[in-house]
Amino acid sequence: MTAISLGMPAVPTKLAERRKSRKIQVGTVAVGGDAPVSVQSMTTTRTSDIGATLQQIAELTASGCQIVRVACPTQDDADALATIARKSQIPVIADIHFQPKYVFAAIDAGCAAVRVNPGNIKQFDDQVKEIARAAKDTGTPIRIGVNAGSLDKRLLQKYGKATPEALVESALWEASLFEEHDFRDIKISVKHNDPVVMVNAYRQLAAACDYPLHLGVTEAGPAFQGTIKSAVAFGALLSEGIGDTIRVSLSAPPVEEIKVGMQILESLNLKQRRLEIVSCPSCGRAQVDVYKLAEEVTAGLEGMEVPLRVAVMGCVVNGPGEAREADLGVASGNGKGQIFVKGEVIKTVPESKIVETLIEEALKIADQMEADGIPSGEPSVSVAG
Ligand code: SF4
Repeated sequence: MTAISLGMPAVPTKLAERRKSRKIQVGTVAVGGDAPVSVQSMTTTRTSDIGATLQQIAELTASGCQIVRVACPTQDDADALATIARKSQIPVIADIHFQPKYVFAAIDAGCAAVRVNPGNIKQFDDQVKEIARAAKDTGTPIRIGVNAGSLDKRLLQKYGKATPEALVESALWEASLFEEHDFRDIKISVKHNDPVVMVNAYRQLAAACDYPLHLGVTEAGPAFQGTIKSAVAFGALLSEGIGDTIRVSLSAPPVEEIKVGMQILESLNLKQRRLEIVSCPSCGRAQVDVYKLAEEVTAGLEGMEVPLRVAVMGCVVNGPGEAREADLGVASGNGKGQIFVKGEVIKTVPESKIVETLIEEALKIADQMEADGIPSGEPSVSVAG
């Protein structure tokens, strides 16, 4: 039978083509060009405490972090960089404010890149030539990290406050100083705590240069607020193809930043999804405790590596439909759960057996997916209904 088009547009798998940016190499991770959007975070330990810093980097690596930044405010921190850079499994970027000498120390230490904040480094512009030479000799990219809270005073005077134009002018001015020395191994960030200002700044920057962009809403706040601000701002930009690497800033442990960052990328199909729980919000028709069921299934399948979609639905209104669309699902009602695998009802179990049955079946499907060589992605939990 021939399929008849009903005139509905096909749902795009991605919202936009990526902006064409220059590709740079941050250690083993490519940023920009056709490289996937990467997720990064920053350690909260004293960098001079090498053991604690490496431990936190290991936790971040295990959670999916691809690039890590470490602060370098003192000589002791600078002295620790070489060991940290050598032992870390992911590229280490040194974050330098105030003291240009630490830029050279970080390059000498073998850091994968150096972030400089021009607004915070006195006489930075006078030292660009030497920094560019040292960075070029070692193949170390530089991130020009402009931040609303530490905007160059000259631009603060010119614009009155950290407007998008001021942030962009600051970044492009610094980039131009590097360009004078034929150094273009640069990525740029223009962070602001207001997502609207931030989005406008990155849009202007994206139009004005081809450097890869590091997205960030700075000082985004505690986990809940920071997650929403980052998701809204990154979502707006990434859905326009803008952004090559992201850092979610939360007043929360850095591993939480990685979870949020990965979820944002997965939601936009910029990263392969792993486990996805499609669970309804519940309503007056629910015949089971959907929240509890979704939580128990999520906990039971934590750490699953394959892109498995599991539907947990509270009643028969949307339940069978969603359960059929998923790899595995349950539609609940009358104290029972109809278990679906790949669209077929395979059994009906009492409510008390729903969770264990779903987990059992999920593990079987995951084994099969792994045997079939289906690529693993990253964890994801979404709530639908
Ligand atoms: S599937 Fe829809 S209708 Fe049924 S309980 Fe969940 S939210 Fe309510």
